[in-house]
Amino acid sequence: MKTLLTETDLKKGISKMAAQIEEAYAGRQLTIVGILTGSIVLMADLIRLIELPTRVGVIEASSYRGATTERGELTINSELLIDIEGRDVLLVDDIFDTGHTITRVIQKLEELGPTSVKSAVLLHKRERQEVEYTPDYAAFHIPNEFVVGYGLDYEDMYRNLPFLAVLEDSDLKKHADLVGQKSQA
Ligand code: 5GP
Ligand code: MG
Repeated sequence: MKTLLTETDLKKGISKMAAQIEEAYAGRQLTIVGILTGSIVLMADLIRLIELPTRVGVIEASSYRGATTERGELTINSELLIDIEGRDVLLVDDIFDTGHTITRVIQKLEELGPTSVKSAVLLHKRERQEVEYTPDYAAFHIPNEFVVGYGLDYEDMYRNLPFLAVLEDSDLKKHADLVGQKSQA
């Protein structure tokens, strides 16, 4: 695996982003909403760095991809979401790639009557952006490579890596062997 951002890099970038958010919302209460599942690691760190009265919620977004690499249908599930009416919402996701996920989730949140909705992402792949919208906060800009770790997965694995990495061919081979393994009853 090729490391793109070390644990130390991540810590620095996230602390900087947290400080910007804290300054922007100083004296206010914040409702931080994480998009499941990729945002969970960033959420855990970010909410502990932002020293403001904060409510925490989650929303689910999943896109089902078919056999091709084409974008699948995006499904948004707000059943788990806390009440955001009249609140300043900060939406958090792992990565802004084409931008379709965040913009669609924001549309959904807007229907629920928040006072404001801003967004914060760990990573922004600027080359891939397909929408007009740009996230309000991004800790890092990265090139167009498929990354895993720190919440980001490949077939539901690698989210637990404390660093950010690019999978190489040798990793994909190992992955193919690992992914089919289930524990024996
Ligand atoms: P968008 O809708 O902005 O194109 O994509 C956002 C979602 O695509 C992210 O929440 C993430 O699930 C997935 N994604 C995009 N790029 C990557 C990547 O490089 N690695 C991983 N693991 N997921 C990615
Ligand atoms: Mg995701």
